[in-house]
Amino acid sequence: MFRPYFFLFIILFYCFPAQAQHPKKPTSSEIHQAIEKLNFLGSVLYVAAHPDDENTRLISHMANGVKARTAYLSLTRGDGGQNLIGPELKELLGVIRTQELLVARQIDGGEQLFTRADDFGYSKHPDETLAIWNENEVLSDVVWAIRKFQPDIIINRFDHRSPGTTHGHHTSSALLSMEAFDSAADKSKFPNQLKSVDVWQAKREFFNTSWWFYGSKEKFDAADKTNQYAVEVGDFYPALGLSNPEIAALSRSAHKSQGFGNTGTRGSDFEYLELVKGEAPKDKNNIFEGIDTSWNRVKGGKPIGVLLKEVQYHYNFKNPSASIPKLIEAYRLVQKLENSHWKTIKSEDLKNVIAACAGLFVEAVAESNLATPNSNIKLKLEAINRSAQNMALTSIVLSDGTRIEKNTDLKFNESHRFESQINIPSTTSYSTPYWLESKGTLGMYKVDDQSLIGLPETPKEIIATFNVSIEGETLAYTKPIVYKTNDPVKGEVYKPFEIVPEVSAHIAEPVIIFADDQQKDIQVVVKANRTNLEGFVQLAHPKGWQVYPEKQNIAISNKGEEQTLTFTVIPPKNQSEGLMTPMVHIGNDIFTKKLVEINYDHIPFQMVLLPSESKVVRLDIKKKGENIGYIEGAGDVVPESLRQIGYNVAIIKPEDINAETLNRFDAIVVGIRAYNTVDALKFKQQQLFDFVEQGGNLIVQYNTNGGLVVEQLAPYPLELSRDRVTDEHSKVVLLNTTHELLNYPNKITQKDFEGWVQERGLYFPDKWSKEFTPLLSMHDKNESPKEGSLLVAKHGKGHYIYTGLSFFREFPEGVAGAYRLFANMLSVGKETIKADVQLKD
Ligand SMILES: [Zn+2]
Repeated sequence: MFRPYFFLFIILFYCFPAQAQHPKKPTSSEIHQAIEKLNFLGSVLYVAAHPDDENTRLISHMANGVKARTAYLSLTRGDGGQNLIGPELKELLGVIRTQELLVARQIDGGEQLFTRADDFGYSKHPDETLAIWNENEVLSDVVWAIRKFQPDIIINRFDHRSPGTTHGHHTSSALLSMEAFDSAADKSKFPNQLKSVDVWQAKREFFNTSWWFYGSKEKFDAADKTNQYAVEVGDFYPALGLSNPEIAALSRSAHKSQGFGNTGTRGSDFEYLELVKGEAPKDKNNIFEGIDTSWNRVKGGKPIGVLLKEVQYHYNFKNPSASIPKLIEAYRLVQKLENSHWKTIKSEDLKNVIAACAGLFVEAVAESNLATPNSNIKLKLEAINRSAQNMALTSIVLSDGTRIEKNTDLKFNESHRFESQINIPSTTSYSTPYWLESKGTLGMYKVDDQSLIGLPETPKEIIATFNVSIEGETLAYTKPIVYKTNDPVKGEVYKPFEIVPEVSAHIAEPVIIFADDQQKDIQVVVKANRTNLEGFVQLAHPKGWQVYPEKQNIAISNKGEEQTLTFTVIPPKNQSEGLMTPMVHIGNDIFTKKLVEINYDHIPFQMVLLPSESKVVRLDIKKKGENIGYIEGAGDVVPESLRQIGYNVAIIKPEDINAETLNRFDAIVVGIRAYNTVDALKFKQQQLFDFVEQGGNLIVQYNTNGGLVVEQLAPYPLELSRDRVTDEHSKVVLLNTTHELLNYPNKITQKDFEGWVQERGLYFPDKWSKEFTPLLSMHDKNESPKEGSLLVAKHGKGHYIYTGLSFFREFPEGVAGAYRLFANMLSVGKETIKADVQLKD
């Protein structure tokens, strides 16, 4: 498959938060910055584990202050994180965070690289991390990144000497970076890579320390820093009108899904680096000491350096195009370089600078943002030179091989617009993140094509190349085909142009729970991605389940239109679970994928093609009580999940918490981190306790111990800790096997702790008063047993339950045991009440 190379290149021009997907239109002073950068031939690779681990102050300083090629290698795409802006989790969150990193790099001037490592969730120790990741594959990918990027300096965010003191992914990133420093230079390591890259020896490696490794800013200020290199990062860039920390803050604020909005600072400030490998710089103030970062480092580069220095010094801010003839001369000399690494990078940078100097704008816009393989799409093309520099558009070559001869002079500010069409060959791959195309493991994405490994995005296959002749030299400007519209509110909106299957389908609910043997109707939504679609749909289902009707016809006339079909599903008599997939038959083809759209203003529109599967679960569950009041916290889908198994769940706003409201419910459940995020609860705690005292049942889900809005979380003393059990398979011991919560109405056994996902739970209390009964004990490998995951206390006539178990993660995955246990929590006390009533009778 043709994979254009241009996506590997530096974003040479900066883009302050406009819409992320708009083409860059640099100002005169930004062009001057880019010319200065043409004269610097040094590189820095920053290494950490997650999107948001990176130090944007240092990245921005290296890219904008030093003007080095600077990249951030994030080993993972952050799938395991939280999402503060929408419902996407796991692989879809990884897609969002990948795009947020690209926006961050557009702002701070860096590049972005990845490995195949998957962020599988919290890990306490690098031994565990490296056992779940494929250690050798991730090391191979770090070596690959180093051999491709060829950094002079590698900087680790984390300390390789501190296993167990931070996230296992963090320490692993530093350990692998240290090993890769040597392996990248060793011919015997990963020799297969050497077909397309050379070995590379970086000069030195640093650990970028921070006050948080010392516990506090005061301790860090007082610490001995004789072995640290202090780097001034508080610089002000007049060309950009911003201080370095202001740019870093804008970049940091791109991590919107993590809520990492950041306010910039001004004034002198330092980052500290400790040498961990390689030769120490003799000059304490220059980490590039001893590395030739001028054009002299490349054979044949000296005259290029002389020319580009001249361009830099004689740059006319009012007329950047005056620099073009000299830039073309430099471009010609670069074509003669033997060093293909710098030749490729600097050719692309020079082309971009020349286009920017001329205000040259070329673009190919498709009539729609979607097309299917084996179709034709109309294109609108535009080319304009907005300078006095003579140039001509010689031809345009489209990715289907079409060559449009033009030989038109691009005269000053004269727009050339014309129409054409492009064929999307039947062999074109669907647009989707390449790392999600095949099913990987818990710890690794599966990517077979070595040339894709490390790339932030799937390279676009449908492209147009504008050949422009300037001063006798032909420069090829290759652009992906785009789509754009005018939005009445937002103005010009760009969308990527994507190749999609003829049809996609999904079941409306990702998980469908059957609390009994009653049949349910489920909706299948079929979307046509071309006109005049006809065929039929079947539903693949697990053994023992029945689906009616067996098949249904579809006929959709318009592209983009949906048709919804209703199937009736009858669950088996006993507990059972499995997957259901809509299979859409069109002619001889069967389509089984769904298209997920991710649409946020701060990142480009994303389409992700995933296997279309919904989980169906037949629970063996008994319930007491029907009406549940839910007090929302930081956001979870627990209310929807409880509705699925037949409870009536009403959301109670904090201002409505009073005895009258509470008494309408059989139980009150408090959402995750409510006591961290809902200020108003501080005035309502006593009313909740009174509700319990008078016979109510209150269930509080996990909170973190920092920043609680109440002094007293429970009617009796209870202290939260940072105890968590991250291994979702860890053994669970039932401590009090006769307690009603473990027996009524469902008998809880080991089987109920099978099939849990991501973790058991977090922020368990580690101290509690004697009124509480702990019910479960569990722990991660090599740790002491933790007994605070589920605590129950009788208070007056009612019950108070505190739990750090991750029901909010287990419910959306349809984990049967989690539902059975929660049904018991909701039922606590109901048995005794019933007994009392019977006695009175
Ligand atoms: Zn991290």
